[in-house]
Amino acid sequence: MTFFDFMIKFPTEKAVIKYFLKIRYNDVLICPHCGSKVRVQHRNDNLKLCNCHNCNNTFSPFKNTIFEKSSTDLRKWFYAIHLFLNSKKGISGLQLQREIGVTYKTAWRMLKQIRSAMGNTDMSKAFEAMVEIDETYIGGKPRKMNGETEPSKRGRGTKKTPVVGVKERSSSHVFAKVALPNEEGKKLTGKQLFNILDSVCKKDATVLTDDFRGYNFMNHKNTNKNNYYRISVNHLESIYSLGNGLHTNGIESFWALLKRGILGIYHHVSVDYLQEYVNEFCFRQNNGTSSFDVLLKQGIFAA
Ligand SMILES: [Zn+2]
Repeated sequence: MTFFDFMIKFPTEKAVIKYFLKIRYNDVLICPHCGSKVRVQHRNDNLKLCNCHNCNNTFSPFKNTIFEKSSTDLRKWFYAIHLFLNSKKGISGLQLQREIGVTYKTAWRMLKQIRSAMGNTDMSKAFEAMVEIDETYIGGKPRKMNGETEPSKRGRGTKKTPVVGVKERSSSHVFAKVALPNEEGKKLTGKQLFNILDSVCKKDATVLTDDFRGYNFMNHKNTNKNNYYRISVNHLESIYSLGNGLHTNGIESFWALLKRGILGIYHHVSVDYLQEYVNEFCFRQNNGTSSFDVLLKQGIFAA
């Protein structure tokens, strides 16, 4: 959708409000005062409020959403969401500030709230059949102020933060999780990797991995409680070039997108916020062109 299309679809704030109520509630609201189902009826003096024709009270259909207390024009909110979802690599606070004419602080807060809404997707046991699993490492360059002068090592053994990703082949959906070291400082243990697979995959799934020993838990009955069928793909021998479809290229291309986004737009992301950024890229990947409506439907809740 271009800016021009956007303006045709949402010419006024009223159009935005109508669209929101249609997508989120299918135009049927529950009155919080008397509990009856009511058709949407806006108050004339304030479009953001609705009337209940049963008890004659007024209520806000935006309660608990980011729109409720925001004084920013809802068209700006919608345009911000539109930009956020349609830029493959993400959008910065500065960019949004320029595009919609709000302060940097407001733009930054809007992005943070949209991003946290994207993380509300429930993906438990969503994947079946065949999945790929792989890890990547994300983190900025070492900074001298932290006493880190040596450049980070690449790959396993680095000080960067591991992120584990699972991609379902049939849907191309991705679930990714920041995997901090356990209490003993061990990274990517079999138990941790099992828990990640267990949270998103059904039992008996076929799991394509590389030959990282962390995945060896799938080779033993007592640690492979979900009976995953592991196929180990050896990168070194480029088995995938034989064209048998046994590869983890799908999740690897997701890593490329995530890294380009984080390096190019966000420059540096602290470990505390990394999961939110990861969620953002998963959400875009998983919802494609329907991202906008999915986000409105699942609700954009106030942080
Ligand atoms: Zn009522």
